[in-house]
Amino acid sequence: MSRNDIIAAVATAPGRAGIGIVRISGARLADFCERIVNRRLTPRRAILADFLGAEGDVIDRGIALFFAAPHSYTGEDVLELQGHGGPVVLQLLLRRCLELGARLAEPGEFTRRAYLNDKLDLAQAEAVADLIDASTARAAQCALRSLQGAFSERIEGLTRSLIELRALAEATLDFPEEDIEFLQRPDAEERLTAIRTELAKVQQASQQGSLLREGMHVVLAGRPNVGKSSLLNRLAGEDLAIVTEIPGTTRDAIRQSINVSGVPAHIIDTAGLRDSTDPVEKLGIARTWAAIERADLVLLVIDASGGETGGDEAILTRLPGSLPCIRVMNKIDLIARAPAAEHRDGTPVVWLSAKTGEGIELLRRALLEAVGWQGEGEGLFMARERHLQALSAAQGHLERAAQVARQPELLAEELRLAQVALGAITGEFTADDLLAEIFSRFCIGK
Ligand code: GDP
Repeated sequence: MSRNDIIAAVATAPGRAGIGIVRISGARLADFCERIVNRRLTPRRAILADFLGAEGDVIDRGIALFFAAPHSYTGEDVLELQGHGGPVVLQLLLRRCLELGARLAEPGEFTRRAYLNDKLDLAQAEAVADLIDASTARAAQCALRSLQGAFSERIEGLTRSLIELRALAEATLDFPEEDIEFLQRPDAEERLTAIRTELAKVQQASQQGSLLREGMHVVLAGRPNVGKSSLLNRLAGEDLAIVTEIPGTTRDAIRQSINVSGVPAHIIDTAGLRDSTDPVEKLGIARTWAAIERADLVLLVIDASGGETGGDEAILTRLPGSLPCIRVMNKIDLIARAPAAEHRDGTPVVWLSAKTGEGIELLRRALLEAVGWQGEGEGLFMARERHLQALSAAQGHLERAAQVARQPELLAEELRLAQVALGAITGEFTADDLLAEIFSRFCIGK
């Protein structure tokens, strides 16, 4: 993959639409533009033009928009051809671009170029993909905050403080005769404490952001007819409409995704779990079990009007013992009981009616509490598992730094390692194969 060649892709979603966009990026596109629209384009001025084929034939008529380097998404020259959104016409236009010397862009290659040209750092580039994939409005907001640099700024702030403290520690090494009992100076100790406090806050916000990105995985269990489907519909409520299908996450028949107060919840249905000899069914059952292994909690639905039976508990014994459980006592309308949330032997129990909706809000709260969601705050930003690991590595080094605080040499080294860990988040220290892996998950044209 060369950085200097011209890349092209259809940037809009496949299918029919009012408008379809072919995006082209490369080091110098002036001639390329001239050949396709037969005139010189002024940067950032949209013009209505014929998009021309090799023989001067017209492929489509639309808007041509040229961005001159470095003032573009990728930091290179970028041309957008906004034509009619039909799959055939867009393919013809794309083919014309390839004839003119462009090659097909790889997934995420536009954003990768933006990253390589310092238009975005790595955390921001990842936020682009997360914004596109966001499955709730809240998740989209957080991804946008990361894209606008909220996460990166916190990381950079931490890095700056680390560098200052490192400089202090290293200065002590350079001038041992002035050994000033470096870290007995409250200033340095205070700095280290302040950095650790800020890191803990960033970790906390990132964990919340990661929950928004990944969603909670909830196993729905209970005997037939206790009201599992009714409960799911009730929980989903009107929000179901804005939960979108993300490829690979909700396509499974066993999984349904809903929105619990802005946090995506992926529901794993245990209805199909029974002994089977049918190979296809067996495969589905194996997948359900695998999903259950990775779940965050189980929602055990019980018919409150029928009382608990051995059957209810038997279901639990088949699930992993480590899985936290919320017991839902459903159908309280039949026994004239008020909705309530309580704890029994440490397990949350929610009394509600899927039919009337009473108590549903209590269940939403119990779900959010069970997965550790605290975030109404504005300060959230989208984070990925990779970021959480890097933050935790940095935290480990700072903990050791505090232990060796009176040995400047060891201290400086721990501070350096913490800085390297943080640098992996913004891409300052990131291996090429990790970059390839990150961008390969983008869609083509982004
Ligand atoms: P599932 O087999 O566990 O998915 O149960 P369903 O959701 O299909 O519900 C079984 C029956 O119980 C249906 O007739 C529902 O209308 C009824 N049902 C579910 N929840 C309630 C409730 O809270 N109150 C009452 N009265 N009936 C309910």
